[in-house]
Amino acid sequence: MNIAILSRNAKLYSTRRLIEAAEERGHTVKVIDALRCYMNITANNPKVHYKGEVLDGFDAIIPRIGASITFYGTAVLRQFEMMGVYPLNESVAISRSRDKLRSLQLLSRRGVGLPVTGFAHSPDDVNDLLQSVGGAPVVIKLLEGTQGKGVVLAETHSAAESVIEAFQGLKANILVQEFIQEAKGADLRCFVIGGKVVASMKRQAKEGEFRSNLHQGGSATLTRITPEERATAVRAAKIMGLNVCGVDLLRSNHGPVVMEVNSSPGIEGIETATNKDIAGQIIAFIEKNARPHNTRTKGKG
Ligand code: ADP
Repeated sequence: MNIAILSRNAKLYSTRRLIEAAEERGHTVKVIDALRCYMNITANNPKVHYKGEVLDGFDAIIPRIGASITFYGTAVLRQFEMMGVYPLNESVAISRSRDKLRSLQLLSRRGVGLPVTGFAHSPDDVNDLLQSVGGAPVVIKLLEGTQGKGVVLAETHSAAESVIEAFQGLKANILVQEFIQEAKGADLRCFVIGGKVVASMKRQAKEGEFRSNLHQGGSATLTRITPEERATAVRAAKIMGLNVCGVDLLRSNHGPVVMEVNSSPGIEGIETATNKDIAGQIIAFIEKNARPHNTRTKGKG
């Protein structure tokens, strides 16, 4: 097969591993920087241009679109979908998952366990907002944050008020969430491929920190998850419409709760923690499913 990887940097671990795994299995791979693609939108003949050439002949495309280029990256991916190229994850599903609020709304509608969550932009009654999620301690999140940045634990009511007011001053959208203290600074990353959890790891925050992100000094270890956790991760992936994703769960005393579904999950952490060939499994999934125009949305919406 001819496989394209939409990635800004061929040297990143995840991109490198996908190239390696695809080539090992006899495929041809080309890494394409989405920001350098330009397109011409004419009736019935979608094309993508790149460095003076027309990109053609791909059977499948693996989107690795960074959060900061979601808008343009998904537009480029959609163009490939319109050309009939099989996307590992569809553009619509990626856009959906990048909007934290929309994701939580979709998951809650289907009854998936979530931390009690409120969202706000300019609440006139901060007390009422805090009460609606059960009061302090709460976790307050900037909707646009990634890698644990913009996630604050407010242990008291007055700290929560101050943080919310500060964020309000920035005119930002915020989430206010019940603090899952019993998770003890740990979360679970479940790596889902084609409706199955193929690997999972536990990430533990460093001493004195509640955020378990590896970027915040957290450490990852192999872990066994319960059938309920497994089922929750699989359902979340299905509701989001993602073939490949990382579902982050917290162990709460009301069962597993989904914190986030990541449509471009990193491969390094999970391969290192589990010693599994995740990149190879992704390529195997593509081999099984890639057919022209095999998308649910046909590049729409
Ligand atoms: P980001 O998307 O920036 O990584 P997250 O929402 O995943 O932000 O939060 C970062 C980390 O903070 C999580 O990995 C988790 O360890 C911790 N955390 C987030 N929300 C909660 C919560 N409601 N209760 C307890 N810990 C949380």
